[in-house]
Amino acid sequence: MKNKKRILILPGDGIGPEVSSIAKELLILLDQKYSLDLDISEGLIGGKAYDETGDPLPKETLNMARDSHAILLGAVGGPKWDDLPSQKRPEKGLLGIRSEFDFFANLRPAILSKELVSASSLKNEKVSDLDLLIVRELTGGIYFGEPRGEVEGSDEVLNTMIYSRKEIIRIGRVAFEAAKGRKGELCSVDKANVLEVSSFWREVMTELSSDYPEVNLSHMLVDNAAMQLVREPKQFDVMVTGNLFGDILSDVAAMLTGSIGMLPSASLNKTKKGLYEPVHGSAPDIAGENKANPLASILSVAMMMRYTFEKDEIALSIEKAVELVLAEGERTQDIAKENETTLGTREMGRKVLLTMESI
Ligand code: NAD
Repeated sequence: MKNKKRILILPGDGIGPEVSSIAKELLILLDQKYSLDLDISEGLIGGKAYDETGDPLPKETLNMARDSHAILLGAVGGPKWDDLPSQKRPEKGLLGIRSEFDFFANLRPAILSKELVSASSLKNEKVSDLDLLIVRELTGGIYFGEPRGEVEGSDEVLNTMIYSRKEIIRIGRVAFEAAKGRKGELCSVDKANVLEVSSFWREVMTELSSDYPEVNLSHMLVDNAAMQLVREPKQFDVMVTGNLFGDILSDVAAMLTGSIGMLPSASLNKTKKGLYEPVHGSAPDIAGENKANPLASILSVAMMMRYTFEKDEIALSIEKAVELVLAEGERTQDIAKENETTLGTREMGRKVLLTMESI
């Protein structure tokens, strides 16, 4: 039991359980194929947890999460719970997990399979073989800075952008390490021409770069970075930025790839414990219809293998299996062209699993 790799699956709401069940089958297959010694359990989160226990993040789930090396989330939320008070809403479950385990580093790859270039909003040559990684600081910056709120006795409201050296160094190290394992190009994004916090961010990133001589660090202002992402996205390899800028830039990058159903993410803390989840939400419009694309969830498992369990070769084989299935022309409805035959969630999952067995 001691050396087991403990994984907690939190399927959540909407399409969450549908895509998570495919990810679970994949984990069971990986366990057998690579003798990983996995211990997989499941828990409640979000609206379903509220319905069953009155709490979107029950104590039992938190205890199970504390005991795990990695957590795989489906999605939370849906119209059924929209009118609940904010403390009971499904999103509180997710925010609670993120803050409880200090998942400060959010990694969002934007990879465009060459099979899907037509799904992008940009011209083929601008995006084919796109492979960039956005590293976003997730637990600091203006989203958490104090003081915040209404200024007493005035007609003003305020938020505070704040970063400490320690916070910049820890996210910087994650980004430099990631760049080291890729093309060695890191672009740090800030607004140093206007914000003191950004000047400090730039200064600390530059200092840190002396620890990583193999990585070429550049800096870019956030307005230019947004423009460059939609103009020439392939100039980037790894981008690192604060919470606010990262929130926006990672969504821009996601759109370059065409479908939200393809995009995984990882949020890590300093012990490499990770929360892995598709970028998409619970998609209530297609929930329960076997229509959801399970590839983002499958690719989240690949990220788990790479970052928490340091099994890069397994991550690569999952990514290869997805690529092979797409190359065979298999599509779920969200990535299909008009009049193309499509597969359901389970059928697409089965295709990837069968391919994984054979490579
Ligand atoms: P969404 O990502 O759930 O859906 C947006 C659109 O993309 C929908 O048309 C949906 O059908 C489609 N889509 C999403 N995932 C898909 C997939 N795997 N395959 C095929 N199509 C897919 O975003 P939304 O509609 O803005 O939000 C719905 C609910 O999800 C809300 O309650 C929201 O709060 C919640 N949400 C949760 C998370 C999370 O759990 N991390 C993230 C975003 C939104």
